[in-house]
Amino acid sequence: MQKIPFEVIPLKQWFLRHKRDFPWRGEPTPYEVWISEVMLQQTQATVVIDYFHRWMDRFPHLHALAEARLEEVLKMWEGLGYYSRARRLHAAAHYFVMHHQGQIPNQRTELEKVAGLGPYTIGAILSFAFHQRTAAVDGNVLRVLARYFGIAEDSSTSKVRQHIAQLAERLLPEEEPWLITEGLIELGALVCTRVPQCLQCPLKNGCIAHQTGQELELPIKKQAAKVTELNRQVMVIHAEDEVLVRKGTAGRVMADLYEFPYAEIRSDELILYMDTQFPFPRIFEKHLRPQTHSFTRYKARLIPSLWKALEKRPVESYDWMPWKKIRQLPFSAGHRRILTSLIEEHAHFTH
Ligand code: SF4
Repeated sequence: MQKIPFEVIPLKQWFLRHKRDFPWRGEPTPYEVWISEVMLQQTQATVVIDYFHRWMDRFPHLHALAEARLEEVLKMWEGLGYYSRARRLHAAAHYFVMHHQGQIPNQRTELEKVAGLGPYTIGAILSFAFHQRTAAVDGNVLRVLARYFGIAEDSSTSKVRQHIAQLAERLLPEEEPWLITEGLIELGALVCTRVPQCLQCPLKNGCIAHQTGQELELPIKKQAAKVTELNRQVMVIHAEDEVLVRKGTAGRVMADLYEFPYAEIRSDELILYMDTQFPFPRIFEKHLRPQTHSFTRYKARLIPSLWKALEKRPVESYDWMPWKKIRQLPFSAGHRRILTSLIEEHAHFTH
């Protein structure tokens, strides 16, 4: 692939001077790069740091992850959202154990066979861990290069993304290419942000968007999908020292995560709903603090209430779970917040 001119030296110098100090930087193992990059996909780096440390304490190497139960993996992921990432990490760890003796291979063709490993993560592993001359194009790099090369086409299309990925590959130097790959990501995170700080940018002399005053117009992206708002009544029903919960069904958004019973109904429909779904004597205890929970393209407003069942009858698809065990289970983010606020007010439930 033919190389293209690029301000390699200013970017490298800038990166070495300004890069943030993260536990997955320095001389990371392929496993550390893989885990950190998957965590970073939807989450801010500063938030990921604690998760990364905890994860590495519990699953210090790939074998430890492969041997763990999925439920424990999801528990370690709790709060990071997009749980399919944790499920895929677990499945991929099994794959690496079965096919690569528990090692992460350094060939692109082998990594491409692993379900859930996308081009960005593969590029990051090959570049940061194996120091290969390869690009890793995430949203940050896409923004920097669309501006730098003045690409005035919709950057959400696969054609333009591919074009930018090729440019990212072609601009890499032979010497220490990984510093440029990571430097572009860091520049997008710190300087070439939504409102870029061009005067502090090491690429300003060659950047077409900056030279032509288009830095705020680029990259061009078609309208993001609309967010759908949901209103959910959440019923926390307890009896004796147990509480009613359900595990999310496989293949659905909240698969393998626990939730309290809930329904998309109005508050004045709640009693009728409960009479139908949970037909046993109960008393209303109190309203709990509402929570919001965003996932995929939904924003759910959770309106929880606390109920005491006077008889503990089995309910299809639900389990009565001891309060003591509840803390150890992985919950979806919104329901976890309901549980936390409930425990804060009623510590005796879990003791
Ligand atoms: S000069 Fe401005 S627009 Fe161009 S890459 Fe740097 S920060 Fe981004």
